[in-house]
Amino acid sequence: MNLVEREERLFFRTYKRLDLEIEKGEGCFLISKDGNRYLDFFSGLAVNSLGHSHPKIIEAITNQINRYIHLSNIFLQRPQIELAELLLEITGYSKVFFSNSGTEAMEGAIKLARKWGNSKNNKEIIYFSGAFHGRTMGALSLTDREIFRSGYEPFLHDVIRGEYNNPTHLIENVNENTLAVVLEFIQGESGVRETSQLFVNTLESLRSKYNFLLIADEIQSGLGRTGKFFAFNYHNIKPDIVVIAKPLGGGLPLGAILGSEKVSKVFTYGVHGTTFGGNPVACAAGLATINEIVNQGIMKNAKEVGDYLKDKLIETKIKFPNIISDIRGKGLMIGIEINRDCEMIVADMIKQHVLINCTNNNVIRLLPPLIISSYEVDYLINSFENVLSKIT
Ligand code: PLP
Repeated sequence: MNLVEREERLFFRTYKRLDLEIEKGEGCFLISKDGNRYLDFFSGLAVNSLGHSHPKIIEAITNQINRYIHLSNIFLQRPQIELAELLLEITGYSKVFFSNSGTEAMEGAIKLARKWGNSKNNKEIIYFSGAFHGRTMGALSLTDREIFRSGYEPFLHDVIRGEYNNPTHLIENVNENTLAVVLEFIQGESGVRETSQLFVNTLESLRSKYNFLLIADEIQSGLGRTGKFFAFNYHNIKPDIVVIAKPLGGGLPLGAILGSEKVSKVFTYGVHGTTFGGNPVACAAGLATINEIVNQGIMKNAKEVGDYLKDKLIETKIKFPNIISDIRGKGLMIGIEINRDCEMIVADMIKQHVLINCTNNNVIRLLPPLIISSYEVDYLINSFENVLSKIT
C-alpha cells in the first residue's frame, strides 16, 4: 500500500492532501522524497516565516530540549518569560497568555471579553462575513461560511454576524449591549480581503461611544507578514485584545493572547489555563523567530519583496485580463482572484515545482516565507504565466 492509500484507510476525511512526500525543508524550498525541489509559496500556511530549517530556530530548539522539554505552567520558565518580554516590548500591550494554537488563543480572548463584560452586562459579540477565527466551538461561532459551520449548531449565544466593510450595517448593529467586535484587519480564508479605512474609522468612533472591546485576529496576518508587525498597524488604531499564533512558535505549536491595560486584571488565578500552552521549546523557537523578524530586517524584506511581487502580479493581470480579476493584500500576504476554480492551477503549478494555496475556491493565496527574494518571485511569476498561458 502506498502512502496515499494508507492515509485514506487511517484518517477521518478532513484534509485534502497533496500527493507529495517531503523529505526535507531548506530555506524557501521543500525537497521531495524523489529528490525534486519545490519553491514553497505558502510556508505551512503562514507558519514558516523564516523558511525551513532556519539555523537560529534549530539552535534555539536544540539548546532548550537539552535543558527541559516540558515542566507545566506551575513552574517559572525562562523561555516563556523572555518571549513575553519581547512581545510586550514590541507591541506595547500589558499582558500575555500563551496557548497551543490560534483557535485556543481565540477561545481565551472570548473568555477574557466575556468575563470583562459580564460585570457590565454587555453581551453581544460581533463578527463579520468572510471571517475565519478557528474551529473550536467558540471561535467557530465567530467564523463565517457554511463549509466550516454546517452541522455544528448550536453555536454561542449573543453572537451577531455583521457585514464586512459595511459601515452602515455596523452602525445598525452596535449599541450599548455590544461586548466585543472581532476582526481580521486582512481576512485570510475569505480570499485576502483588506478592511477599509472608512470601516475602521466607523468602528473607532463606535468604540469610543459604546466602550466595547476590539479583538484583532492577527493569527495569519500578524508578526511581520504584511510588512508591519500587525496588519492593524496600517491603521491608526490599538485593539484591546490581539490574538496571534501560526509563525509565533517558529514551526512549533504556539499561540498567544495579548491584552491592553483595560483587560489586564480580568484573569486571576485559576480562571483560565492550559497544560501545554507556552511550551518552553516552542517559546525558545518563538524567541529566535521574533528576534529575527524584528531585528534582522525580515519585516522590511516582507514589505519590499511583497511590493515587488504585487507589482509583478499586476503586470501578469494585464497580460491575462480574462483570467485574473483582482490582486489584493499587503506585504507577503497576497490574494489573486481568478475567474475559475483555482485547484487546477495549484496542480499545474506543482508540475512547475511551485507550491501555492487556493482559498475560497477562486483565490490563489500567496504566503511565502518572509525571507523570500525577488529572484524567487521572478521564478513564481514565470511559472504562473506559463500555467496561465495554457488555459484556454
Ligand atoms: N484565525 C485566523 C485568521 C486563521 O487564519 C486561523 C488559521 O488558519 C485561525 C484563526 C485558527 O488558527 P489554528 O489553526 O492555529 O487553530
